[in-house]
This record gives sequence, C-alpha cells and structure tokens, in this order.
Amino acid sequence: MSEIDQLDAEQIKEQICDIGRRLWQRQLVAGIDGNITVRLTENEVLCTPTLHSKGFLEPADICLVNLHGEQLAGQKRRSSEILLHLEILKARPDVRSVVHSHPPHATAFAVCGRRVPLGLLAEAEFFLGEVPIAPYELPGTATFARTVLPYVHRSNVCLLANHGAVTYGGSLIDAYNLMEVLDAYCRIVLLAERLGPAQSLTADQQAELSQLRVQSGVAPPKPYASDEITDDSI
Ligand SMILES: [Zn+2]
Repeated sequence: MSEIDQLDAEQIKEQICDIGRRLWQRQLVAGIDGNITVRLTENEVLCTPTLHSKGFLEPADICLVNLHGEQLAGQKRRSSEILLHLEILKARPDVRSVVHSHPPHATAFAVCGRRVPLGLLAEAEFFLGEVPIAPYELPGTATFARTVLPYVHRSNVCLLANHGAVTYGGSLIDAYNLMEVLDAYCRIVLLAERLGPAQSLTADQQAELSQLRVQSGVAPPKPYASDEITDDSI
C-alpha cells in the first residue's frame, strides 16, 4: 500500500496544491499550464481546475470527476485535459496519479520530434527508461487523449509531440518525481551536447541498470494478456 492510500480526500487535495506549487516554482509549468489527477476510489478522480495557475491552488479549487470525465463535485470547472489522465488511469490500474506539464527542456525534444537518448546517465536509465513520443493531436480532445495508449504500458513517462509531457505512477509523489527527473535529464543531455562529446554507458552497463529497474519494481508492470500494444515503432 502506497503512502497516499493512507490519506483522505482533503489531505490529497492539499497534496495536489503542494505539488502544483512545486511544478510552478521549478518552472515545469507556466501560466495556467498543466494538470494533476489522483485516483480517489475505483470510479472517482480528484483533478485540478481549468484556467488556474498550478502555483496558486487552494484545496477548495480541486474538482472531483468520474472515469467518464463528468464532474461530480467542486466549485470550479475540471481541467480540459482530464480525458488524457482518464485514458491512462483506465489503461493502468496500478497507476494512482497522473501529472501533465510543459517542462521546457523535455518539451524542446517533443517540439523537435527528437527521441530522448538513452545510455548516458545511470539515474535516467533506472528511473525513466524509454521515453516515447505520442503524436500530435489537438489538446483537450478525445483523439488527443488516446495518443498515449500505444505507449502507456511500456513507460511511465511520455512526451507529447509539439505540446509537453505526461508522467504517472503509484502515487502523486512518484508521478511528480518522474516529471522533475525527465526535465532535469533532458537539460543534462542538452548541456552535454554543447560540452561533448558525451561518453555513453556500455551495452553491459545499460543492461545491468535495466535489470535493476525491473527487479526494483520501477519499470511498469507487464501488460495484461488481453491488452493490445499496437505500436512497436519505438
Ligand atoms: Zn498541455
């Protein structure tokens, strides 16, 4: 049982506000960018409101929705990106929380359609693993929300082409930490390219880290047999 299972809805709302402030203070979001969700019960999800800075959230601003995206409670309107979060939560029963933001260094890779390279930094191999890029669709639409589905079982991190990034995990802290690590790693890669040449880890060193990632439970669980993964292009 994760630490967040111990918390009630009010405590989770406060934690969402705290993580929102951290996203804003670390410049992982700007303006009214980004959104956060936490699964509360089997069919209920707490989420951030639309048109609201993540740096200035109060617990009363947090909305409650069902898995269809219908608002159940909250004074403000739910995020327009709730469909993206719900697709991930429905596809991955082990996921408790989703964070979406536009972290500048990671988003630069998403804008250029450039794969985040592996094999350069031990921590990134262990915590991030593969970073897929979901194709562009108009944000806020059901079509956009479904763009992550081909990748959602093989990574807890996904870039969104010409848009930003989404991370998810067993708790809000896990999802947030992945967003921090993703942007920090992309920044290191960009700095290393200027300083270069970067010295890659060997194939054996990468395999060792990959094995440790699976053994430690950091890698996503294997998909259920009934799930289809249709895109093997990455
Ligand atoms: Zn966005």
